[in-house]
Amino acid sequence: MKRLVILGGGTAGTMVANKLRAALGTHELHITVVDRDDAHNYQPGYLFMPFGIYNTSDIVRSRHRFIDDGIELVLTEIGTVDPASRTVHLADGRLLAYDVLVIATGVSPRPDATPGMNGKLWGSSIHEFYSLPGAQALTEAMRRFRGGRLVVHITEMPIKCPVAPMEFTFLADDWLRKHRIRERTEVTYVTPLDGAFTKPVASRELATALVDREIALETDFAVEHIDNDTSELVSFDGRRIGFDLLVTVPLNMGADYIARSGLGDELNLVPCDQHTMRSLAHPEIHVLGDAGTLQTSKAGSVAHFAVDVFVHNFLDEFNGRPATHGFDGHANCFIESGNGKGMLLDFNYTTEPFTGDFPLPVVGPFKLLKETRLNHIGKLAFRWIYWNLLLPGRPIPLIPTAMSLAGKRMEKDVTAAGTGMPTAVALSSPPPPPRPATRPAPEPRPETTPLATTDQVLPTPIIPKF
Ligand SMILES: Cc1cc2nc3c(=O)[nH]c(=O)nc-3n(C[C@H](O)[C@H](O)[C@H](O)COP(=O)(O)OP(=O)(O)OC[C@H]3O[C@@H](n4cnc5c(N)ncnc54)[C@H](O)[C@@H]3O)c2cc1C
Repeated sequence: MKRLVILGGGTAGTMVANKLRAALGTHELHITVVDRDDAHNYQPGYLFMPFGIYNTSDIVRSRHRFIDDGIELVLTEIGTVDPASRTVHLADGRLLAYDVLVIATGVSPRPDATPGMNGKLWGSSIHEFYSLPGAQALTEAMRRFRGGRLVVHITEMPIKCPVAPMEFTFLADDWLRKHRIRERTEVTYVTPLDGAFTKPVASRELATALVDREIALETDFAVEHIDNDTSELVSFDGRRIGFDLLVTVPLNMGADYIARSGLGDELNLVPCDQHTMRSLAHPEIHVLGDAGTLQTSKAGSVAHFAVDVFVHNFLDEFNGRPATHGFDGHANCFIESGNGKGMLLDFNYTTEPFTGDFPLPVVGPFKLLKETRLNHIGKLAFRWIYWNLLLPGRPIPLIPTAMSLAGKRMEKDVTAAGTGMPTAVALSSPPPPPRPATRPAPEPRPETTPLATTDQVLPTPIIPKF
């Protein structure tokens, strides 16, 4: 009997365990999932907590409830992985041997990585919403906020759900208006990117949405430190942005055991093939969800589509056939835009987000990159879908694993100049000069050859970190 060990029982780990358990009997495959605790958090819900839309009980469920019978769930910290002996050392002293290992331990916010971020202002006027305690503390801070300078800030890419800081900004604007303190508040969105977003069309639409709401946009901001005495963000190029309330997204990093095991890059992300999610260094290790180096969004939707591809390939190889499926980088993300409306992005490695209808041409019912009430309802419905379809590994109707071009209004020759965003990145343009970074520049990642597929052509990804 083969032994599959899955590190991390979050979004990706739970999905892959349940899908494989449904496909193979307990006499064929022994599946073990390791996680540090029994609390599964619906992370997209963190966004809504500071505005009183969700509270803790809406987003936390018992992890073991979502792990199917016939799967062993081990609750402890992961110590190290030893690829040479194919064993995982757990913090409680146990050893787990594997034939195939799936790393699905995600990424988490690391305020300790930026000088001054978790200094004396941390938890009073500096907050984050990328963890449950962070979202809880920010809920109290928003209740106390009486106006002033609200700064929403991204430390460095990649982060999980790269649209979440923008969504927070839109929701905050709406919330401040409803509480009649918007006229007393200056809102600034500070990003290390050179536009509101990484892709030209999305950047243009989102920059317009910021202008409409009188939200200032500060781009190319590589934070060097946070001055706790003057309450200012300070960049490498000497810019200073003052705040009364700073909502930051700290550097997102993979788990420390990945570094201890010598498996990761400088952000503890595991270098992996863009189409098979197989570790570049160890063929018996796969990386699913946020923990790897896929050059697409770090998002639950991406984890979902990539897990589908992985399961197909795993079953093929299990049955002695060559693996034939390749992941195309498909991401599908609702963007909450406030006032009961939302937008939708759908893209992959080679197709940037465009406007149009989703999932069906003309009929929609969702609109890509346009604010609609139905998109907002879609975003709220995602919580039900997450618990009831996604985690149990059930199919989601009308949402294909591979991205479809149907309904998309493709814009040709979208360049930085054409977007109306002088600083937006054009996909066809050469890479921008290196920005001063808060961390040493990463080693170039080895390119991988796309897997030959039976159902799609998979060119090398051209989209940078998203
Ligand atoms: C504010 C916010 C909003 C978001 N909104 C959206 C959205 O609208 N749409 C969307 O698609 N995605 C969204 N996401 C992203 C989505 O939640 C993640 O991409 C997804 O959860 C990644 O799944 P994962 O399995 O890789 O990691 P996770 O779900 O984070 O799971 C990792 C698991 O590993 C465990 N673990 C980590 N280290 C260890 C260790 N050392 N020992 C033991 N266990 C360990 C953790 O306890 C955790 O259970 C959002 C995220 C945030 C923070």
